[in-house]
Amino acid sequence: MPAYDPTNIFARILRGEIPNKTVLETEHTLAFYDIAPKAPVHVLVIPKGAYVTYDDFAAHASEAEIVDFHRAVAHITRELGLDMETGQGFRAITNAGEHGLQEVPHFHLHILGGHPVGPLVA
Ligand code: ADP
Repeated sequence: MPAYDPTNIFARILRGEIPNKTVLETEHTLAFYDIAPKAPVHVLVIPKGAYVTYDDFAAHASEAEIVDFHRAVAHITRELGLDMETGQGFRAITNAGEHGLQEVPHFHLHILGGHPVGPLVA
């Protein structure tokens, strides 16, 4: 696992050094709108802790952080009308490392919705 780079753009957002359009903030999690949306709704969900990738987060975060993160996802999809009770669904993806084409080395989940997404390609 590469060392966490505290100068990455999401670390700077978490420190309040650059602005973001917050969707939800909880004790351990921040969600905000992607600056270059790839769908009508494009939200990024990040843990406040310093985790590089999803597997880093899953392996090393506390249970409280992991539960908080996933409850935040559920809250956001419900609030934005993407959930399966009131909406028409969404795609949630995370890119990890070089093969995953991860640009920002702070774990983030993309939530994409508001229209039918294309097929998943790799
Ligand atoms: P990719 O760019 O290949 O999707 P990532 O999975 O690392 O790579 O995603 C980084 C995401 O962060 C991109 O969707 C990009 O638009 C978004 N982004 C970059 N800078 C900001 C910012 N300041 N505020 C919000 N979103 C940002």
